[in-house]
Amino acid sequence: YGDANQKVDYVFKVVLIGDSAVGKSQILARFARNEFSLDSKATIGVEFQTRTLVIQHKSVKAQIWDTAGQERYRAVTSAYYRGAVGAMLVYDITRRQSFDHIPRWLEELRSHADKNIVIILIGNKSDLEDQRAVPTEDAKEFAEKEGLFFLETSALEATNVESAFMTVLTEIFNILN
Ligand code: GDP
Ligand code: MG
Repeated sequence: YGDANQKVDYVFKVVLIGDSAVGKSQILARFARNEFSLDSKATIGVEFQTRTLVIQHKSVKAQIWDTAGQERYRAVTSAYYRGAVGAMLVYDITRRQSFDHIPRWLEELRSHADKNIVIILIGNKSDLEDQRAVPTEDAKEFAEKEGLFFLETSALEATNVESAFMTVLTEIFNILN
């Protein structure tokens, strides 16, 4: 997890977007520090976190940006998207509204970000299966139609968080190589 004394071949900026409380900050905490907190205010104010990993023998520094409470529609500024090569579009599988807002976020992303940006749709809180409000099939279908990668994750249980980041980072890496 440490970044110290590592030679870096690439820096990839990836942005997290989606409604408030879907788990963006906890997904980032899980990926960057292998931590999870039930206190949603734990990471407020942090602009981005980094983690350096190895992809095909190259050192890749992932710089992951978190919205830090700017999730209201159109409140995320274009500076946030500037230079981003990847995006994680997150909804909460227990909150239908957070999924219904995904087309808006996608539109926002496509109007601000580079047109070649790699995007993954993420249904978070998969540990709360008994409260599920968004069928996996609905999300899968939407992702296919829009040409997005798709995974369900649990930041709490650390399920698929690593895979979600690796999917995006590896695809970005492959586009460049
Ligand atoms: P954000 O507003 O999108 O950054 O959401 P947060 O990361 O602050 O998470 C909002 C709330 O959902 C917090 O209470 C988290 O502890 C909780 N949460 C985040 N991810 C998960 C998860 O995978 N499973 C469960 N059960 N709760 C989660
Ligand atoms: Mg947050």
